[in-house]
Amino acid sequence: MNEELLRQYLAYYRDLGVKTVYRRPAPPAEAGQQTEPEVLPSVEAPGPPAVSEPRRAAPDAAEPLAMFELPSLAPPDDSLERISADIGDCKRCRLCEQRNKIVFGVGNPRAPLVFVGEGPGADEDAQGIPFVGRAGQLLTQMIENTAKKEGIPLLREQVYICNVVKCRPPENRTPLPDEMEICGQFLFRQLAAIQPKAICALGSTAAKALLGTKDGVTKLRGRWQKWREIPVMVTYHPSYLLRPYNQNAKREAWEDLKKLLHFVYD
Ligand code: URA
Repeated sequence: MNEELLRQYLAYYRDLGVKTVYRRPAPPAEAGQQTEPEVLPSVEAPGPPAVSEPRRAAPDAAEPLAMFELPSLAPPDDSLERISADIGDCKRCRLCEQRNKIVFGVGNPRAPLVFVGEGPGADEDAQGIPFVGRAGQLLTQMIENTAKKEGIPLLREQVYICNVVKCRPPENRTPLPDEMEICGQFLFRQLAAIQPKAICALGSTAAKALLGTKDGVTKLRGRWQKWREIPVMVTYHPSYLLRPYNQNAKREAWEDLKKLLHFVYD
């Protein structure tokens, strides 16, 4: 690939929100050759564009990516099936070491509303489904009960639910920046494929991944933000709401949800 095409690719991926790109692992080695995938240096995408720079089109891929193969991020015909296949038996970060199941996402692939959490816990890791433990049960209640009270017929399976990282962090620790960045590529592809009318970021990790901000939930919640052109409502993570002393946050989360549901379903 010539330098100009490579530059266009890097700029295109940077516009998609990807700051670091990795070469694909080497194809399976011939008999007698080295079998470990070669560890290749990452490549930093160039700096941010001028504010007024229009979104660029994907570079013409007519030239084969022989020397430097980039991951096929957000191809024009992307789908959840394709993203899941691309994740495969992922070993791109250390979270693969202790996971049981990859937790890709669940729900309506055409949902007008997507909830994004932080990462799987023990129950999710065991079942391969997001938000099925205690926090998940609270999330389901929050969605269904708030909708019912507001006269909106809505069940959990009609929305889409996923996480920033798809593998359980050990001891449920917060995902590290490199884990969020690597897995965030797949989250972004999921959101781009679904194209929901709105996104709900549950907690500060989801808010950070989507908005790139260090601001906490208390500051961000209740007001519309944006991921690309899609409105984002940040609210408290259901695990936080399970703590008995966070009753005020519970009330605020219900308010956020009401606002979100009326925006999406009215
Ligand atoms: N917490 C999350 O952030 N995601 C889950 O799937 C479960 C708990």
